[in-house]
Amino acid sequence: MQIIIRNKAFSFSTIFSFVIKPIKGLNDFLNRNEILFLPARYIYLIKNIIFEEFAKAFIMSNQIRVFSLETGNFKADGGTMFGVVPKVMWERIYPADENNFCPCACRSLLVVTGDRTILIDTGIGDKLDPDYAKFHYLFGDDNLLKSLKQVGFAPEDITDVILTHLHFDHCGGTTNFDAQGNSQIVFSNADIWVSKSQWNWAMNPNRREKAAYLKENLDPLARSARLKLVENPFFLTPDVELRFYDGHTKGLMSVFINLGNRRLVFAGDLLPAIPYIRLSFTAAYDISPLTSIEEKEVFLKELLDNDDILFMQHDINAEACTLKMTPKGIRENEILKVNEIFEI
Ligand SMILES: [Zn+2]
Repeated sequence: MQIIIRNKAFSFSTIFSFVIKPIKGLNDFLNRNEILFLPARYIYLIKNIIFEEFAKAFIMSNQIRVFSLETGNFKADGGTMFGVVPKVMWERIYPADENNFCPCACRSLLVVTGDRTILIDTGIGDKLDPDYAKFHYLFGDDNLLKSLKQVGFAPEDITDVILTHLHFDHCGGTTNFDAQGNSQIVFSNADIWVSKSQWNWAMNPNRREKAAYLKENLDPLARSARLKLVENPFFLTPDVELRFYDGHTKGLMSVFINLGNRRLVFAGDLLPAIPYIRLSFTAAYDISPLTSIEEKEVFLKELLDNDDILFMQHDINAEACTLKMTPKGIRENEILKVNEIFEI
């Protein structure tokens, strides 16, 4: 086996003696015959052993790796979450607190493939105005940059940021305030991918969505040469496909990630939590619920037929799941964590 570090080949025995041998639980690794592409940063991380789980995911996936990143939680009113669906139907599946608020995660996904380190969505970020924040009941200690660091990456490592759409809870972490209070992009080496229709929609917002498009989130993107506006569905890499949907907002992008033998699908707000697998469950936030239902129907059928894994950004209890057909339609099957995917 060869190991390639910054385009130089090293024999496996060299790497084994100095890097891999001190790590527990890597026996499987020794029996495999793939070529392993190992940037120098990972050698450093592996040396520090903290990343046993990371190393395992890396090896099992044989080049493409994915990490679920918690960016912090918020609460949303149960009525806005489930629109016309009566509370007696949704609360059994997704309980609300005594004030009718439902806890929501805000998950991002990191995809490392070849020389690309791709971050999908960036959460709310750290610069939410307190008056605005008080309607969203932020809770928990998670934060995007902290979660990135935990899996061994710094903001400068990110080569691409995909923003599924520009609502505040999906793009806020792309920017932060500098010492002068100016909003600036955190990921200095990244191209930032947004659909052109979502960008135009956010630049001329309608009255319903206007409050979700924050100037401090969008202005730095508007000024940046790294903003890439995409007009049609496309493959960002051979393993990372972006598709467009219009029910939640115009030009929402969902991301289909080919892990080798399975696909992991980052639905974004097309399907943000388990209850929405039921076709009639749509959020009151959706600009076009009937379009959402039609889009989900096609989307879920494809995922079921392919035995894909659905990644859910806002479900407080479930990171990901597989699907099954039941007499009532498609439903969640096995609830998974992303780091378990490599073991199925
Ligand atoms: Zn949204």
